[in-house]
Amino acid sequence: MTLLCAAITAPNIEAMIADAARAFAAGADIVELRLDYLDDPHPDIEALLSRIDGRTIATCRPTDEGGRYGADTSARVGLLEAAGLANADYLDCEFTSWSQVVEIRERIGKVTEIDGDSPHPRRKLILSHHEFSETPEHLDTIFASMLNVPAHVIKIATHAESIVDSLRMLSALREAAGQRPTIALCMGEAGIMTRVLARKLGAFLTFASLEHGHESAPGQPTLDELLRLYRWDTIDEETAVYGVIGSPVGHSMSPAIHNAAFGAVGVNAVYLPFLVEPGSEAFDAFVRGCIERPWLSVRGLSVTIPHKLPALRFAGDNVEPLAARIGAVNTLVIDESGAVRGLNTDYAAILDSLTDAMGCDRGDLRDAPVAILGAGGAARAAVAGLTDCGARVTIFNRTAGKARALAEEFDADARDWTERSHHDAKVVINTTSVGMHPKTDDTPMPRDALNAQTTIFDTVYNPIETRLLADARRAGCTTIDGVTMFVRQAAAQFTLFTGRDAPVDLMRNVVIKRLTVCSPPR
Ligand code: NAP
Repeated sequence: MTLLCAAITAPNIEAMIADAARAFAAGADIVELRLDYLDDPHPDIEALLSRIDGRTIATCRPTDEGGRYGADTSARVGLLEAAGLANADYLDCEFTSWSQVVEIRERIGKVTEIDGDSPHPRRKLILSHHEFSETPEHLDTIFASMLNVPAHVIKIATHAESIVDSLRMLSALREAAGQRPTIALCMGEAGIMTRVLARKLGAFLTFASLEHGHESAPGQPTLDELLRLYRWDTIDEETAVYGVIGSPVGHSMSPAIHNAAFGAVGVNAVYLPFLVEPGSEAFDAFVRGCIERPWLSVRGLSVTIPHKLPALRFAGDNVEPLAARIGAVNTLVIDESGAVRGLNTDYAAILDSLTDAMGCDRGDLRDAPVAILGAGGAARAAVAGLTDCGARVTIFNRTAGKARALAEEFDADARDWTERSHHDAKVVINTTSVGMHPKTDDTPMPRDALNAQTTIFDTVYNPIETRLLADARRAGCTTIDGVTMFVRQAAAQFTLFTGRDAPVDLMRNVVIKRLTVCSPPR
């Protein structure tokens, strides 16, 4: 089983002992003691190891391999040797040093099982290779030369320039793990999938930091994220993979929502953030790369800015008609044969949020007068969905030309932004970003233009109660917040992905918790 390894980067022995104890208590299976992080270049390694209750890897990385230890190779090897004599379970040694420096081979060899004549306690050798600026084209060649050395574990860590590097790394891991215990991961934000899916592919271990700010390599998740957000303990060979494609994607709430929902419903799946650079080329390369690796079991993708148009193009003829009219796909469903379906759950989320709040069904929206504020992406989904139901839609947008163009496309009306207070609508939907954090005192509709007969729907979800919604509530209007829409589109994706009803209340709670932490209520 793949071990969960906490990297311990404390600056002194006492702090290292305390951090190791915290890591084991938090769920780590093993700790990597980064001896190169210790302020004292000649620490008492025996005192350190004798007080750690659990499995250990001793690493003393030199600066030219991304660590902090200076150029004194003899002193560095001395620390590893001491760790071996003090019963560290594994010693990590860089492949380059091992290959080039006889002293390293001789001295480390004596304290590892490699040298059958060693009189000392026998530790196991991890041979590691790092590339901090790229992921080389021929990973297989590097793995092959490392497999020639009789180490117990081989490790390759490279920088992911793009997420396709992560896919290549997972292929290499799959290949090597059948021959030798292997650690294969990509550093950087685009590498997160290699760290989480290490367990699905049977890697020897994956690394985690104790907390943010204590990472020993870029892109390392925390123990808490691996265990609670990604539900590390539930990942196995059969786990299906889902995720959100975006750029940026680090702020996305979708992993928290979907992973919590998988857990609640008992679906064997994990949901990841996929950082894919803008443009159809990068989008196609990633999605095609997933499909070409059926053993990864990528079954569905949420798609966010700026990839909704590339997703539409990628799905080709297999796009639901209204998503094609909207010109945006936010969901790709991939079946076992690799066939892809493109859908849009935004318009359905808008319609269902409305009909729920108004206690009616979609048919009742026929001829209903609706005002849409805005003419961007969210407006397109709203206008498409509402005109499809036969509603009488009027678009108000700051840039009049955009309102006119959108209205023409969907057979709606367009009026000047300055006239937005003088509408006869039963429903007003704000799809502009006005009122969004941090400008929470702004509102797209003056307070005196609100009356109790109108339903006010604000698609902005941060803050949860915008100034527009607060004014509308005081005026006695029915109100719908952006979180309702956000959760509904995620719930619709969940059902498309899994064929199961989504735990909507739980998903809403996850979103509210995240939003409350990020920006407290007004
Ligand atoms: P977008 O395509 O960039 O469109 C932004 C719209 O806001 C445009 O119509 C723009 O008018 C208008 N706007 C921006 N600043 C304005 C201002 N100061 N005064 C008047 N109008 C202004 O963005 P989008 O993707 O449609 O997203 C818009 C909002 O919808 C965001 O707040 C987003 O959070 C929300 N949204 C929510 C959900 C959800 O699930 N709840 C989903 C998607 C989007 P111009 O054309 O004149 O620039």
